[in-house]
Order: sequence, then structure tokens, then C-alpha cells
Amino acid sequence: MFFKKTPVRQFRYDAVCDRCGEGVLIYTGKDSHSMHPMMQHLGGNKYFHKCNKCEAVKLAPEQWPRIVLEDDGASELIEFPAKPKSDGSPAG
Ligand SMILES: [Zn+2]
Repeated sequence: MFFKKTPVRQFRYDAVCDRCGEGVLIYTGKDSHSMHPMMQHLGGNKYFHKCNKCEAVKLAPEQWPRIVLEDDGASELIEFPAKPKSDGSPAG
């Protein structure tokens, strides 16, 4: 089986709190489906976050911080598992 092996760079996106402008929003592990049924009308903004500075609570459509990988070079085609070399050595 063949794979493409690509070097990547990793970035973390922290959502800056729009209330205090200093803290960042951290996903609390809760979403609106684990809350009261009255709160399930919130559509896409279902993940509860809390500012790590002013403790403002905010709903968001995705979980932050978010890790994003970007390509950092050309891909290389590799085969895995590697085939034994056909150089005539005994396989054992
Ligand atoms: Zn804040």
C-alpha cells in the first residue's frame, strides 16, 4: 500500500475573547446537547467556551483552541510496509 508522506508545520489558533480582548476562549468540554433542552435551538454554535481571563462564556461552532496542519514541503510517495530488498539475501 502506498502513502504520501508530507512534512507539515503545526499551528494553534486561539480565539481571542471579544469581551476583554486579552484572554482566549477555551472549550469547556460541554456542548448544547448536554445542556438543558431549551438551549438546543442554538444551531451551529453549540460548543461552550470560557475565557481564561475574564471568564466570559461564549458559544462557538467549533472547538478552540484549534490545531491546524499546513504542508511544509513536497510529498514523497512511500510504500508501507516496505518490500524486502530483492538483493538475493536469504529471507530467513
Ligand atoms: Zn475575556
